[in-house]
Amino acid sequence: MVDLIAPEEISMPSHYIEKMRKNGFEVRIFDTIDNYLKQKDIAKIWYFTRLQLERMGEDILEKEFILRKAVTFKKEFLSLLPQNVKFYHPLPRHKVYPTIPTFLDELPLNGWEKQAINGYWTRIILLSMFGGALKADFDLKPQKDVTDEEFIINAPIINGTKGIQKEGKRGIKPITNGTVIDHIAKGKTSDEIYSTIMKIRKIMKLYDVDSADGIFKSEDGNLKGYISLPDRYLSRKEIKKLSAISPNVTVNIIKNARVTEKYRIKLPPKVYGFEELQCKNENCITNPIHGENVKGSFVKDENGKLVCEYCETPHNYDEIWNI
Ligand SMILES: [Zn+2]
Repeated sequence: MVDLIAPEEISMPSHYIEKMRKNGFEVRIFDTIDNYLKQKDIAKIWYFTRLQLERMGEDILEKEFILRKAVTFKKEFLSLLPQNVKFYHPLPRHKVYPTIPTFLDELPLNGWEKQAINGYWTRIILLSMFGGALKADFDLKPQKDVTDEEFIINAPIINGTKGIQKEGKRGIKPITNGTVIDHIAKGKTSDEIYSTIMKIRKIMKLYDVDSADGIFKSEDGNLKGYISLPDRYLSRKEIKKLSAISPNVTVNIIKNARVTEKYRIKLPPKVYGFEELQCKNENCITNPIHGENVKGSFVKDENGKLVCEYCETPHNYDEIWNI
């Protein structure tokens, strides 16, 4: 069981808590130490952390005093603690407002000093290993990378001219050579399809002369969009990008009025390396306002969400592009 003391203003993002629960932890959340101690089931191991106020927005800083009060241990709490309780803290403590005040230093619950000493030795060992002074056996067998998952899939070409030259029928504007992106936002409303088409064009800069787009009804009655790009072939990197902007589209490569290659693309296991990527969490290190020059990078989780590699904020695929 894990109990968190987290005032509402600084409560952990819910996906962290979800993850802990998924890993088998029962998680309870309390807003103050005061309220935590009002119930019976009190932990024997307490881990205090520094309030990282420098990472919080102005509106939260105004409440600094309330936040500190909520997570600072007070003398009158001592009698409410269970036997053999231990307190830990990564140190250093705040000079003026320590969450574990100095009156606790001489009590047997002081676990943080031992923790600090252990940290010293652990770092010596790690640095020695890193520098080569200490050697250990490592298992260097390559692990299967999540990014190996196929997401650009060759699709069978049933009728090479299908969808290109539908004489007398409405459909994709015929082209002789080039690329047709098809099945865009299939099943969505025409508004949604059109905004997806515009988004693809904008992010991928598909402003080629004579290019066309439109919405039409597929055989199963659903609406879908297309973009046709005469005399233009998408590179592998562009197809990758497209797969993260609008998964589940079909890419047709057309030569001499016949479909010569056809790909169905899925949401990729990892999305990275594109300028326009942007985590939606303002406090994320990748946000340009922090000036860290760290680019957005997302990994697909088991629910198909794209999780920021730095702050673990989950996104839908349409939330990762800054346009
Ligand atoms: Zn992030």
